[in-house]
Amino acid sequence: MNDESQKEKLRQHFARRVTTQARVVLDTWQKIHSDLKSSHAHRADFAAATDKLVRYAQRFEMASHADAGTRILDLIQSWPADTPLDDTLSQQLLDAIENLSRSTLRRTDQNTTQPPRQFRRTPVYIALANEELSNRLVRQLEFFGFRAAAFTDAEELIEACGLHKPETILMDVGFGGETNAGIGTIEHLQERHETPIPVIFVSDEDGTIETRLRASRCGGEEFFYPAVDPGQLIEKIETYTYGNTVEPYRVLVLDDSRAQAKYMETVLTKAGMKPHVITDPMQIIHALDEFSPEIIILDMYMPGCTGMEIARVIRQQDRLHSVPIIYLSAEDDVSKQLHAMSLGGDDFLTKPIDPKHLIATIHNRGRRARSLLALMIRDSLTGLYNHTHTLQLLDQEITRARQKGQSLCFAMLDIDYFKKINDTFGHPIGDRVLRSLSMFLKQRLRKTDHIGRYGGEEFAIILPDTRPSDARNILNEIRERFADLHQPAGDREFNVTFSCGIAQWQDDSSQSLCERADRALYASKDQGRNCVTLADA
Ligand code: GH3
Ligand code: MG
Ligand code: MG
Repeated sequence: MNDESQKEKLRQHFARRVTTQARVVLDTWQKIHSDLKSSHAHRADFAAATDKLVRYAQRFEMASHADAGTRILDLIQSWPADTPLDDTLSQQLLDAIENLSRSTLRRTDQNTTQPPRQFRRTPVYIALANEELSNRLVRQLEFFGFRAAAFTDAEELIEACGLHKPETILMDVGFGGETNAGIGTIEHLQERHETPIPVIFVSDEDGTIETRLRASRCGGEEFFYPAVDPGQLIEKIETYTYGNTVEPYRVLVLDDSRAQAKYMETVLTKAGMKPHVITDPMQIIHALDEFSPEIIILDMYMPGCTGMEIARVIRQQDRLHSVPIIYLSAEDDVSKQLHAMSLGGDDFLTKPIDPKHLIATIHNRGRRARSLLALMIRDSLTGLYNHTHTLQLLDQEITRARQKGQSLCFAMLDIDYFKKINDTFGHPIGDRVLRSLSMFLKQRLRKTDHIGRYGGEEFAIILPDTRPSDARNILNEIRERFADLHQPAGDREFNVTFSCGIAQWQDDSSQSLCERADRALYASKDQGRNCVTLADA
């Protein structure tokens, strides 16, 4: 059976599970509806069955069931426990139930093979022994715009991973009950994937070196012992999702053998990387400029020059100082290999190379190069671009907007009364707020937008190819939703707002664009804060 039809079978299998659960909900409703006077006896069952339905439907990507179930759950919320159902609520529930039964009938009657509507984004899977915490995390992650699902047993997690490879898994070391059962499940899961799924392990019982080693060997990127609070977990999950892991490595390959070059291209593409292959060493300068690789792979012996000579030329350029260079050659004389490394290479791999070994080496080098680069251009607290790099990006985007004749907007945000937050709840909670706003922005803006931390509690956003009115709408929506977010502080909660100013680029310099956005921001502050102002409007 091919991959697609296997997935399709799995989908149908899951679809049945959801429709079965929908039936349970419908049956329970029948009991409630047929005898309204004693309806409250079934309220708890009804709520539990519907809750399960929603979780299944979300996990197995059946949006209409999820929507119908959520509506029913909302209505049950407004039904006071220990009281019979009143007429108004009963009518509202009846409508919602009809919606659900329509979705359920449609699916079974037509025996559809159409895939269910896809939820957006790759999921994050949560497998914790503490179910209540799992569900809380899922809700919070959804608030930030992630797609998350919680699991209560290993079988289901494995099935779901077969259907949809997650971006990250948050895993309890003891998930499934027995000692280290959670690690066992991950070991089993990773075997099925070419590139490992990043896993965050947590444990309340076991922080020994043996356990940590085993966890790390099967893709455990983090290990929390004892387990940490939900806020910290969400921040960790965030670092393994979105732009951080999905962006493929750009790998430049120089090999004069066409066959070898082609083979490398296939291997790298299959591993989810972005290769650019050249066979003529004289093309290297052009390729470096056009492709700006993150990793370079060089053949050792080529007509006209050697890989070592090319490496020296590459290293003569400042901006390419930290790009890893890997030699790939049939040369097995170790002293020659060492000599090659002394001329600016980082690794030496001999042909024929095991593709797994090659990919692992590139991953390691690439990851290290990215984290070095991040130190230079990113702010350490939020992971957003720092002030200097944000301004560089703004200049680049201005050039591009000019070339393409597109509209470009620049927004500045400043948190309202941030000093008071620090004074009331302490500096660490203030930092948490900064990170939560940065995550919020990352999740809600497009990948083509650039987000920077401009200063203390000020953020800057570059929105390429965006009209001012669209920019205002987007930022207004973000502003409203962020203001709704409950910021935890011990056993208290509080809300935070920000003010924003937006300016459209008008063929002026980046400096003047920034100044206009800043003036608009201060106009927002003057108007009482928690609002968005468009410059020159
Ligand atoms: P406004 O609504 O007018 O913007 O008032 P505000 O209190 O937000 O602005 P103000 O500029 O008076 O205070 C900003 C505060 O932000 C002061 C500074 O201590 C705090 N701050 C700056 N950087 C950080 C940081 O990295 N972490 C924390 N926790 N606080 C920071
Ligand atoms: Mg402020
Ligand atoms: Mg400020």
